[in-house]
Amino acid sequence: MSDPIVTTIEPAALPADRSVLQAVLRGLRGRCPACGEGRVLRGYLTATPACSACGEGYAHLSADDMPPWLTIMVVGHIVVPLLLLVEQAWHPAMWLQMAIWPAVTVALLLLLLPRSKGAVLGLLWATGAEAREERSEP
Ligand SMILES: [Zn+2]
Repeated sequence: MSDPIVTTIEPAALPADRSVLQAVLRGLRGRCPACGEGRVLRGYLTATPACSACGEGYAHLSADDMPPWLTIMVVGHIVVPLLLLVEQAWHPAMWLQMAIWPAVTVALLLLLLPRSKGAVLGLLWATGAEAREERSEP
């Protein structure tokens, strides 16, 4: 009789001293996920190459499409119920709704997009999920 085959799968090692929740919350506030003091973004959406307080860099992290996707999802879940609620309650004129809702949507998108990017950079940094692009040279 043979012994059963036992396979152990080790989870990927997370950076030991990085709290995912803390890093995401700091990124959401626009702060450096590592120290919470410096800024995670330089300008509107560019990841800072080095935090002004601790020197941690985020420019090598690739958030890709997740910040806009997250922003659209959140804004959609805010604007659509509000629109329906206002329509049900007050029936405002169509021209008024056509003036208000696109402006509210764009304002929320512009407000939340950098926060989403900061949160995603915090998540990537805390989990050690760094972009690995493999390019073949011609
Ligand atoms: Zn920092």
